[in-house]
Amino acid sequence: MARSLNHLWSCTMKDALVIGGGPAGAACALWLHQLGMATMLIEGGAAIGGLQQRSPYMNRWIPGLVGKTGQEVARQLHMHLRQEQVECLLNYHVVSVRRRHAAAPWEVSNGSDVHRARYIVIATGTRPRTGGFAESECVGIGPGTSIEKIPVQGKRMAVLGGGDAAFEQAEFALRRGARCVDLYCRRAPRARPALRQRLQGLAAHVHAGPFHADQKTMRVNDQQYDVFSVQYGYEACIPVYLELPRKDGYLEVDQSGAIPGVPGLFAAGSVTNFLHPCVTTAAAHGIQVAKVIENQHCQHGAQAARSADRPQQLHPLGFLAVSGI
Ligand SMILES: Cc1cc2nc3c(=O)[nH]c(=O)nc-3n(C[C@H](O)[C@H](O)[C@H](O)COP(=O)(O)OP(=O)(O)OC[C@H]3O[C@@H](n4cnc5c(N)ncnc54)[C@H](O)[C@@H]3O)c2cc1C
Repeated sequence: MARSLNHLWSCTMKDALVIGGGPAGAACALWLHQLGMATMLIEGGAAIGGLQQRSPYMNRWIPGLVGKTGQEVARQLHMHLRQEQVECLLNYHVVSVRRRHAAAPWEVSNGSDVHRARYIVIATGTRPRTGGFAESECVGIGPGTSIEKIPVQGKRMAVLGGGDAAFEQAEFALRRGARCVDLYCRRAPRARPALRQRLQGLAAHVHAGPFHADQKTMRVNDQQYDVFSVQYGYEACIPVYLELPRKDGYLEVDQSGAIPGVPGLFAAGSVTNFLHPCVTTAAAHGIQVAKVIENQHCQHGAQAARSADRPQQLHPLGFLAVSGI
């Protein structure tokens, strides 16, 4: 990003800005809004829902919600925010989150205009690792729509990776009529035993050990394939100009979702180092962060009211000084 950030236009001042409209950000913004805070949800894509938009599969993992695909879950999230009139800014890809000095509001920018707030929640989630491959008509990256849109009937497929998604995708491809599926993993497969068992007796072979896959020739070692399914897991999406401590590539937060040592800055969902990311845990994390922010906001409001009650005097150098602090 070669552009300087010094020419930015100012837009809004809110109590809280939530960056990322996946389950974590959507839940956080919904709760902040309903708790009475001036909130805006900022999403880089054209719709709310995050990774669920990539899932045409039935989501059987949200307690109490049955018969919905991931894409339907995403649409429900979007509808819910709209119905509750939570302010959403779509197609706004945040590149920087910064503050001029410790007492100034946070500034969030896409490189051309700025939104300000006292509290920022980073809920920018994850994206599938590419491993240097590029999505094409015969290469799918990550689970879901990227691979599902490629016809596999009668084709030979190589699945690269050895985790749950690799084994699940191998099974889905065989169910869609793939002629054979070879799984390549550099180490012993890490997928759950139940997923590995489901492949037994199907036209799938697992190769554990070093391999070389070439997208140009569509070969893995000396074998030719029609389709590659790249299942190398996920990596955190973090705005490019945000320098914060990370743990294994994820934003490190404390128990309350706060970024330690950076007042007003929080993170929620799968961009953080929290345990087992899924829709329910991401949403729960977003809600916990919303409650922590609301508490801080109330305390700050009470403090400000106490200060306003005290007599104020002008500092000899012209600053407004509040007595009694
Ligand atoms: C195919 C597939 C199937 C799945 N199936 C299930 C399932 O059945 N059950 C289940 O519980 N989980 C499932 N998951 C996992 C689940 O979708 C994720 O755990 C969950 O979406 C994480 O939520 P999140 O809000 O933390 O992040 P995300 O969903 O990743 O959302 C992050 C959002 O932030 C936005 N963003 C990123 N960077 C920026 C930026 N710089 N500026 C503005 N916006 C930005 C992104 O566009 C995205 O909308 C599935 C995932 C996939 C891919």
